[in-house]
Amino acid sequence: MEQSLSKLKPVIMLLNRVPPSLSLLAAIYSCCLGWKSGPPFVADKYGRFILHKSNTSGFCERKTKVPSMDLWSVPSDDVLADLPVDPIRTNYVRKVKNCIFSLVYPTPFMTNTHLVAVSGDVLDVLDLDISVVNEEGFLHFVSGGKTDPVFIPLAHRYGGHQFSVWAGQLGDGRAHLVGAYINRYGERWELQLKGSGKTPYSRNGDGRAVLRSSIREFLCSEAMHFLGIPTSRAASIVVSDDAIWRDQFYNGNFRKERGAVVLRVAKSWFRIGSLEILTHSGEYDLLRILVEFIIKEHFPSISIADPSRVLEFFSRVVHQTANLIALWMSVGFTHGVCNTDNFSLLSITIDYGPFGFMEDYDADYVPNTSDDEGRYRIGNQANVGMFNMNKLLQALNPLMDSRQKQLASHVIKGFPDLYYQRFKELFSVKFGFLGETEQDFAIIALFLSLLEDTRADFTMTFRDLSEITEEQLLHLSIPQEYWALHIVSQHKNFPKWVHLYLQRLKRNTDDTDSKRRERMSNSNPRYVLRNWMAESAVLKAERNDFSEVRLLLNTLRQPFRKQKIAEMAGYSKHAPAWARDLKVSCSS
Ligand code: AMP
Ligand code: MG
Repeated sequence: MEQSLSKLKPVIMLLNRVPPSLSLLAAIYSCCLGWKSGPPFVADKYGRFILHKSNTSGFCERKTKVPSMDLWSVPSDDVLADLPVDPIRTNYVRKVKNCIFSLVYPTPFMTNTHLVAVSGDVLDVLDLDISVVNEEGFLHFVSGGKTDPVFIPLAHRYGGHQFSVWAGQLGDGRAHLVGAYINRYGERWELQLKGSGKTPYSRNGDGRAVLRSSIREFLCSEAMHFLGIPTSRAASIVVSDDAIWRDQFYNGNFRKERGAVVLRVAKSWFRIGSLEILTHSGEYDLLRILVEFIIKEHFPSISIADPSRVLEFFSRVVHQTANLIALWMSVGFTHGVCNTDNFSLLSITIDYGPFGFMEDYDADYVPNTSDDEGRYRIGNQANVGMFNMNKLLQALNPLMDSRQKQLASHVIKGFPDLYYQRFKELFSVKFGFLGETEQDFAIIALFLSLLEDTRADFTMTFRDLSEITEEQLLHLSIPQEYWALHIVSQHKNFPKWVHLYLQRLKRNTDDTDSKRRERMSNSNPRYVLRNWMAESAVLKAERNDFSEVRLLLNTLRQPFRKQKIAEMAGYSKHAPAWARDLKVSCSS
């Protein structure tokens, strides 16, 4: 079945490329191909040709991975097809109304493309054997050169509050949703290309993404996943020789760069801005349709018959967003651009841009040099999360009665408590505490104040604390190999803190020092994607040496395990001198 259906791919592709009015031609075409009982595909309500439902099962119900792209396809009748799409099929920049998506194809690169790296883990999620990366069909698919014929690519219409100001229509200006795949575990994953050309939402942009920002997104998505933080994933990154001009630091110095495409994968790409745009433009019917859709597909434990389902949905997003930001803080991750269009309704980390992992401890750390006021500094992420929840509530307002609105405002008021509770839990784990005592938060807070005063490295201080023995701590002899903790140990209050900490560890009943160290080493990473590491990989990749991108991917897949090659590369060390003043901007 799969073999014969794969032969249909080019036919359906061709049919979908022609305007809907040419459906008659399609019928003639199908007769020529000799389908006596009519073609095995039908036109859907938007004039798209899709396979008959009875024919699509072989495409997704598989038990094993596939060795070839010819045997792999996304279903044509994905649930997203039930959401309204823009009737205008011509691809030009405009204000789009009364729809959730626009149908638009990626623009292939004009030059050759090269595979920079792939995540075997994400290919596995997509049931693809790693051997497919050697196929031309794979390169075409992941670079936007040839989409799967049974799925018409979609660009999503959304808006957003950027730096607290309503920005109006934004949307997928350089991204195309190219399929939704149901894997062998029954999980549904949405595949999106980023950097794949203009859409109706491109505004003044060129629809492209450059290599440096694509490498950062590719690596960080995977790194976050392996740190245990909800995130979109990245399957692959390709680079072309197409020239893309960027003024990286907005100082008038335009530089010729190269266009790249990342294949991103997530359970859903809907954001707060997906709902905001509908409320702002008074499209309340559509707002209800989309909210009901999201609840049904992504919050199945909320009953669709529950009259308070929208309130319940809101409450879940508030909880999960507080959880997400606490998780970010637990690894020093700073998103950089926490606009409502970059905040997922599934509370996963999305849209990696000028992010940064805090190195020297600093609550005012701002990775994005374009963020002059430091709105998105690390220490303000929870506040911004709450701001964004208020914007989500405003977007949902038309769907709630006055009692529900009142309850929703109570939910928002609970955000700080939810956040602090989770923060405390996560940091208790980082310190190796078992159970809970009243002094825990004081011990955590005192230690963070020592870090702040000494500006010690956040990641490595916790890692050193995970590796050092209680005996060494007791004698206040911190060897130089624990370089970050060594810096903290110079603080005059370090002995006081050690005393409190060791007393607290004694209250971990049934514990041993080796168990504590093992537990802490499994929750305090040794490797995070420091900006200098990403930059080093980018500089090499710009010279067509992709080895460090791949090395970093390999390293960051196992962030809690000490790795010889990563140690040799200095990934658990301070930034080297050349990288001390590195900057990242919004330019991408
Ligand atoms: P971002 O800062 O990447 O989250 O993007 C914010 C908005 O700008 C989104 O609507 C993007 O699709 C759009 N955008 C960013 N860069 C480009 C580009 N080069 N071409 C078209 N749209 C873009
Ligand atoms: Mg974005």
